[in-house]
Amino acid sequence: MPSLKYLTGYPEPLQEQVRQLLAEDRLGALLQRRYPEAHEVRSDRQLYDYTQDLKDRYLRKSVPLNKVCYDNKLEVVKHALGLHTAVSRVHGGRLKASREIRVASVFRQAPAAFLRMIVVHELAHLKEADHNKAFYQLCQHMEPDYLQLEFDTRLFLTELAHRGG
Ligand SMILES: [Zn+2]
Repeated sequence: MPSLKYLTGYPEPLQEQVRQLLAEDRLGALLQRRYPEAHEVRSDRQLYDYTQDLKDRYLRKSVPLNKVCYDNKLEVVKHALGLHTAVSRVHGGRLKASREIRVASVFRQAPAAFLRMIVVHELAHLKEADHNKAFYQLCQHMEPDYLQLEFDTRLFLTELAHRGG
């Protein structure tokens, strides 16, 4: 039984359901149907503009961004989404200190909604280091569908890992 590292902390019956979808090779198609819309944010410059635009709209008063880029060395489970554990503290602290946002390169090819989710997540860390209640409220302020999108992004990453991507 493969462990689902992006779904750590979620209920076992739910993980079992996901394993079933993976075994039947249905998860990718399901996500593709639900999120058919791609995005055009390819370069680091475009990613910076995209992020700055969201920041201007929702977090105008927070610290300025020094840098925004795609990073192909980023280990998503530790640094992009965080875990439902104390690891998030280190992760948030690092971002706050550096005031830069790194987005794992897999999101370059991801559905538009998942890029938005990850950028919203990282922007929220400019104000809240931890994955606490205030953090998630801020995420939902920027993207009302945030919680569903974070879960579906985890499914997306799970599917990629399953395919060896
Ligand atoms: Zn985080």
